[in-house]
Amino acid sequence: MKLNDPYGRKFKTLRVSLLNTCNLNCFYCTMGSEEDINFDHRPQKPAAFFSQIISRLHENLDLETIRLTGGEPLLYRELPELIRNLKAIGISKISMTSNGYLLGRQAVALQQAGLKSINISLDAMDEVSFYKMAKRKHLDRILSGIDAALDCGIEVKLNAVIMKGMNQDQILPLVHYAFGKNIPIRFLEVMSMGHLHQDADRYLFSQQQLLDTIARKYQFKRLPRAASATSNYWQTTEGNTFGIIANNSEPFCSDCSRLRLDAEGNMYGCLSSNHPIKLNPADNDFTLKEKLQLAMSQKQLHHFVGSELSMLQIGG
Ligand code: SAM
Repeated sequence: MKLNDPYGRKFKTLRVSLLNTCNLNCFYCTMGSEEDINFDHRPQKPAAFFSQIISRLHENLDLETIRLTGGEPLLYRELPELIRNLKAIGISKISMTSNGYLLGRQAVALQQAGLKSINISLDAMDEVSFYKMAKRKHLDRILSGIDAALDCGIEVKLNAVIMKGMNQDQILPLVHYAFGKNIPIRFLEVMSMGHLHQDADRYLFSQQQLLDTIARKYQFKRLPRAASATSNYWQTTEGNTFGIIANNSEPFCSDCSRLRLDAEGNMYGCLSSNHPIKLNPADNDFTLKEKLQLAMSQKQLHHFVGSELSMLQIGG
C-alpha cells in the first residue's frame, strides 16, 4: 500500500502499548500519585488480540520496527508469547521500552523469545532522587535488571527524562554510569503530556541546559542527525556518545515515521492527537486503509503540541 503524506512521511515504526498500568508512579506520567495498584487482577488483552491487529498493519505498511511499551510491558503476562508471535509475523526488529524494575527475572525468557533490544527508562542514579521521580524504592532492581539483560545479550539503551527542580543533579551521574558500562544514553526534554499539558514549561530543562551541564565534565562535538531519528547525538573526545530528544527545543515531527497502538486497539498517528482511531478486527482492507490515512493526517509538521492524554494512556 502506498500510504504517505504530502511530506513523504510513511509509517515504519509501530509502538504498541500492551497495558495502561505501571508499577512506578513517575511524576511526568501520574503526578507521582502514591496509588498502589493490584496488577495481577487487572484485565489484559490476550497476545492473540495484539498479534492479529499487528499482522494486519504489517501487511499494509511493511513495518520495520515494533516497540512494545505501556504502561509497563514487563507486567504483561503473555509477553514472551507475544514476542514469538511477532517474530512469526515477520517483523525484523522487536524492541521494548521498560522501566526495568522486573527485568532481572524475565530477561532470559525474553531474549529466548526473540527480544533484541530494550530501552530502559532511568531518571536517577541515587535512591532519593529515584523516589522523588518514581515514588518507588529499590533503584537497585533496575540496575540489576540492566545487568541481567546485558548478560544474556540483549542490547540496552538508557532514556532519562530531566525535569527542572526535580532531577537535573542526576545528569552527570547518569552519564558517568552509562559511559562506564558502555551503554548509549539519551536525555529527554519533558513533554507537555497528561497533567503537564499546559504546565510542562515550568519543568523544562532544555537541550542547551543539558549540554551546558554535560560540558562541565566532558568535551564533545555534535554528530549529523540520521533521517527519522528522534534524537540528536554528540560524541565526547574519549569516543562516548550521548543523545538528546529535544521535543521542545528541536521538534522532529517533519520526518516522523511512528504509528501508535494503545492497549484497547486504538491507533494514533501522533503523540499530540487526542483522537483515538478505533480498530475493529472486522475492518476490511478498504476501511483499514481509510483509518491509516486518517492517522497519517494527525501528524504535525513543525511543533510538538502535546496532548491531554498521558503517556501511560497513549503508550510511551
Ligand atoms: N513503563 C515503561 C518505561 O518506563 O519505559 C514504558 C512506558 S513510559 C510512559 C515510557 C517513557 O515515556 C518514560 O519513561 C519517559 O521516558 C517517557 N515519558 C512519559 N511521559 C513523559 C513526559 N511528559 N515527558 C517526557 N517523557 C515522558
